[in-house]
Amino acid sequence: MKHILPELSFKYNALEPYIDALTMEIHHTKHHQGYITKYVAALEGMDELLEMDVEDVLKNLDKVPENKKQAVINNGGGYFNHRLFWEILSPKTTSPSPKLKKALEKSFGSVEEFKEVFSNAAATRFGSGWAWLLVDKDKNLLVTSTANQDAPFNLGTPILALDVWEHAYYLNYQNKRPEYIKNFWNVVNWEQVSKNFDQA
Ligand code: MN
Repeated sequence: MKHILPELSFKYNALEPYIDALTMEIHHTKHHQGYITKYVAALEGMDELLEMDVEDVLKNLDKVPENKKQAVINNGGGYFNHRLFWEILSPKTTSPSPKLKKALEKSFGSVEEFKEVFSNAAATRFGSGWAWLLVDKDKNLLVTSTANQDAPFNLGTPILALDVWEHAYYLNYQNKRPEYIKNFWNVVNWEQVSKNFDQA
């Protein structure tokens, strides 16, 4: 299969003032593209793995040769994580489906309390990494964070992601990660997160 940079469903400036156009453009065309290029390079000659979607490779790391595993975790993770991240962003105001809202209330008390738990996971992830909302194998929702570009498939299926690497916010927010996290909620594509929840 072809591993190409996915197009965004909105323009680079569409998420302003919450996420600025230059950050979006560099993040998409340089960082995300870089992970995809390095992922493909790491698996050169391994046609069986290159035919698989990166999500399936990350879920089946035992199929990856030992000397390529860390490159796949890092670059395949960066490839998959950003693909999900762009999908769950939107300039439109959206809200969780009734089904997702109910599940969030069951797990966290309320949508607002969920946002607090998630924001806290994002704020306290030391160094570079991601915050996640996952659906586990028993269909429960859980919040976690991972370091670097580690995808969270060992714990469940990610349906919402927040990139807290400095490259995701530094131009606009400098060291103020909590402000970036607070503003993130203005650009969450809840329609897509709800779809992800239905399909998880
Ligand atoms: Mn990133």
